[in-house]
Amino acid sequence: MEDDSQKMEKIYSLCKRRGFIYPGSEIYGGIQGFWDYGPLGVELKKNIKNQWWEEMVYKREDVVGLDAAIIMNPEVWKASGHLEAFTDPLVECRVCHQRIRADQEEAIKAHEAEHKEKIEWTEPKTFNLMTEVYLGVTEPKQKAYLRGEITQGVFVNFANVVSSNRVKIPFGIAQVGKAFRNEITPGNFTFRSREFEQMELEYFVKPDEKESEKVFEYWKEQRIAWYISLGIKKENLRFRKHEDDERAHYARKAEDIEYHSPFGWKEFEGIHHRGDWDLGRHKLTYNDPLTNEGYTPWVIETSGGVDRATLFLLLDAYTENGGKVILKLHPKLAPYKVAVFPLLANKEDLVGKAKEIYKNLKKKFAMVAWDDRGNIGKRYASQDEIGTPWCVTVDFQSLDDETVTVRDRDTGNQTRKNILELAGYLSSELEKN
Ligand code: ATP
Repeated sequence: MEDDSQKMEKIYSLCKRRGFIYPGSEIYGGIQGFWDYGPLGVELKKNIKNQWWEEMVYKREDVVGLDAAIIMNPEVWKASGHLEAFTDPLVECRVCHQRIRADQEEAIKAHEAEHKEKIEWTEPKTFNLMTEVYLGVTEPKQKAYLRGEITQGVFVNFANVVSSNRVKIPFGIAQVGKAFRNEITPGNFTFRSREFEQMELEYFVKPDEKESEKVFEYWKEQRIAWYISLGIKKENLRFRKHEDDERAHYARKAEDIEYHSPFGWKEFEGIHHRGDWDLGRHKLTYNDPLTNEGYTPWVIETSGGVDRATLFLLLDAYTENGGKVILKLHPKLAPYKVAVFPLLANKEDLVGKAKEIYKNLKKKFAMVAWDDRGNIGKRYASQDEIGTPWCVTVDFQSLDDETVTVRDRDTGNQTRKNILELAGYLSSELEKN
């Protein structure tokens, strides 16, 4: 297709034009590393989170959910090691004083290419990623932090969940929510933002080397299979083991699921063996109800980014056919499930029938698009571009025999369906996928 930088440009402009993602605070010149999700983006992102929750919580008997506060007592971050070790290396260009993350080779190269003169960089300095906030109205205000990862909310509630729920090790706690990092060089659209969402599972196991290894491998396979089930092409996914010197301070072992993006293979989700690091630091233990044995559980974590999933799913679904864009999103993720058109906008009986169908479908699918502008070809193209899997057209035959045309986004095939069977047909197609 087109070259990679063009593809990013195309996705960026599609997102803006059709209401998926806008630059944050745009009318005031924007703010680096912050993005706003528009009417279609919010649906896509919600669908991804719902699918994740369904997979990780509803389909299982060994995982419960949680929604912890974003701001926690700063002692949490002291204990977890984040105030000390949640850092990235930073270098400064001695010519223009711009600061860049030292381990981001592309950004370094791009900066060097911008300068005519030879650049010298300062020695790397560590830079803490936690975002400070100040609470209260009287001085001195209480210093706190926006959470740098959502994980700690799970650990500090470990004893609460165990005592208030019928959970037994092995079990997991799932959470989805916002995290904030004072990233030195946000970029590549939403890939590296300063405010983003994570979807994470903390799975608690006995402190046993062999057992925890098995659970680690199990979750790796589960997580990559989930992305494939949502339609990400297999060849665009791979695992990458972290080297000893790049692992986060809490991890005994870490592997990333990476995506082959237009800007290289990039981290999509991390699978981390956190051992007893967190529960140990918070001095939390577990008592086996059967054996009465007490121990500090080990933790296997799966930590994915909702914004990265949104971006990578958009990139993977983006297809061009004869100059037209088709966003081949999985139907369960598509913002609109179906669009309804009257063949002609100025024929009252066609519009009336189409409106009736639209209202009925809306009761079942909520997100149903209506379009009566331009010709049918243009309406199909407009829906293809935002990934609507099916379009329903009400024509003159519909008035005679109560059937409509259902057109499939990916094949372009059109079939006639009875209006009474339409909702059932679309539901079964959606479930099939
Ligand atoms: P990176 O190496 O890309 O900075 P990380 O290893 O620091 O990522 P983790 O701490 O493992 O990331 O976070 C888990 C997940 O959260 C990542 O796999 C990613 O999907 C998401 N994530 C982390 N940082 C950001 C960010 N700045 N913007 C968007 N998503 C992020």
